[in-house]
Amino acid sequence: MFDFIIIGAGSAGCVLANRLSANPDHSVCLLEAGVSGYDKKHKYLLKVPLGVGLLMWHPTLNWGFHSKEEAELKHRTLYSPRGKVLGGSSAVNAMVYIRGQQKDYDDWAAAGNHGWGWDDLLPLFKRHENQLRTASDLDGKDALDGHLHSTNGPLCVGDPNQLDILSHTFIKAGEELGYPNNPDFNGENQEGFGAYQVTQLNGERWSASRAFLEPIKNRKNLTILTEAHAAKLLIEDHKAIGVEYIKSNCINRIHAKKEVIVCGGTFASPQLLLLSGIGPQDELDRHKIPVVQTLPGVGENLQDHLDIILRQKNKQSTGYGLSPRFALRAAKAPFKYLKSRQGFLASNAAEAGAFIKSDENQSRPDLQLHFTPTYLKKHGRSKPPLGHAYSLHLCNLRPKSRGEVRLNSTDASEAPRIHYRFLHDPADMAVMIKAVKLGRKILETKAFSPYRKKELAPGEDKQSDEDIAAYIREEAESIYHPVGTCKMGNDAMSVVDAQLRVVGIQGLRVADASIMPSLISGNTNAISMVIAEKAADLILEKTQLKRDG
Ligand SMILES: Cc1cc2nc3c(=O)[nH]c(=O)nc-3n(C[C@H](O)[C@H](O)[C@H](O)COP(=O)(O)OP(=O)(O)OC[C@H]3O[C@@H](n4cnc5c(N)ncnc54)[C@H](O)[C@@H]3O)c2cc1C
Repeated sequence: MFDFIIIGAGSAGCVLANRLSANPDHSVCLLEAGVSGYDKKHKYLLKVPLGVGLLMWHPTLNWGFHSKEEAELKHRTLYSPRGKVLGGSSAVNAMVYIRGQQKDYDDWAAAGNHGWGWDDLLPLFKRHENQLRTASDLDGKDALDGHLHSTNGPLCVGDPNQLDILSHTFIKAGEELGYPNNPDFNGENQEGFGAYQVTQLNGERWSASRAFLEPIKNRKNLTILTEAHAAKLLIEDHKAIGVEYIKSNCINRIHAKKEVIVCGGTFASPQLLLLSGIGPQDELDRHKIPVVQTLPGVGENLQDHLDIILRQKNKQSTGYGLSPRFALRAAKAPFKYLKSRQGFLASNAAEAGAFIKSDENQSRPDLQLHFTPTYLKKHGRSKPPLGHAYSLHLCNLRPKSRGEVRLNSTDASEAPRIHYRFLHDPADMAVMIKAVKLGRKILETKAFSPYRKKELAPGEDKQSDEDIAAYIREEAESIYHPVGTCKMGNDAMSVVDAQLRVVGIQGLRVADASIMPSLISGNTNAISMVIAEKAADLILEKTQLKRDG
């Protein structure tokens, strides 16, 4: 019996466990299906930034889901990685720290989600941040705007230790085309080209687990259960009273005196609600699950950033590639990393990027670019090709297409059924085509001329809109920012209200990326942690109010 049970120790779950257990009077249980990651076998991989290349598809540390066949993407199934370890996806992600645009949150608030506008959330972004950049990092020019950043939080955010010459070239290419050089994408204005800030300290990954859990894991009022897979919520008279979970092939039950908070992420949170009888009637009937609460929005409203990559062959051996010259660098890399936390092992792969408008009619950037100074095929899942190349990722920040998460079966250990329906709305393809054309302009600048040999993808012969669209259908993939499947709001399709309470069930909240009503304009780790900060405030406020009578 605990006061609070948190299901899922990912980006959100780690923050929540920290905040709720800060009061020694609260007993908190944090349940995680994955391993702790503290063992020798995994801990180094979880620290070294370039480990992202292996963590993306790691058989133990990643759920490695696949979507259903996507009709608009030549019926391909899309790889859908999610972290399965303390820290969740923040332990396997590319560490890019982006908050999004102010309007993203003001739109949430305008839709009736009071307390979720930019001005409400900024103090929470600041609360988690330990900004490592100082004026001296910037040759005395302090580009960090004091009122937007903080150095007091547990989450280390700083400039990367490793930035390849090709990443610098990418930033110069942006300047050549007249885009602003932006040293702080989380400043007043997101637009422009720059190096990404990363969640790292001293060249090591700083996951939500390292920031929020490790420092407090020995609190007496906090129980962390790993390799414990939540299979079903226990609900009595429309009140959540506990959780049934599987550990070492045994079914166990724990009970909550106050609340159960689901933090399983965009795929697992709706799955758990469905398995517990909360969801659309037709889906529950299809699997013969007794209905506890009809909620048509559970699993709906899935949104993600679709990503297309342009590749150019490099005539030099700069960047990271398979070549005899690079083999020499690679042999020295572990020593360099151990000695100074520098070198390509300190790279997060997506080193530089940009936020730009797909056309002049846009009032704010609607495209995000990630530049990787390497020859990437299938986001690094296929055998690395020989030779040197560089890759430019482009994604549409605010797609209109919506997908869904449903059940494959009532077996909790089976993966959920993910269907993105990418490009279902034709407007999304139009934006992607514009993105490819802009991306080509960037790679064709003078800045890249010392390196550019030829375009490998889409390929110089693919110039018409039809050819580009065919390439997108053939190659585009998720860039792993799924959100929205337990939408916050006050309409018939909302799953949680603005207090993150599941509609119709007492003592149950969802707090993770799944509650976002709409996808934000950027990477989704920072906001997932802020959602948990907000949840903690809402829960503690309520507990305090009760205590005060
Ligand atoms: C490869 C990759 C690269 C990315 N790159 C970036 C990036 O560079 N920057 C960025 O901002 N964002 C990035 N993201 C996205 C970002 O990491 C996620 O949006 C964010 O971590 C989501 O947080 P969450 O708490 O909602 O879910 P998660 O962090 O995924 O946490 C969910 C947790 O719940 C656990 N869980 C699931 N089901 C159960 C169950 N039944 N019982 C118990 N536990 C369960 C999981 O194991 C996991 O630990 C990336 C994601 C991936 C996968």
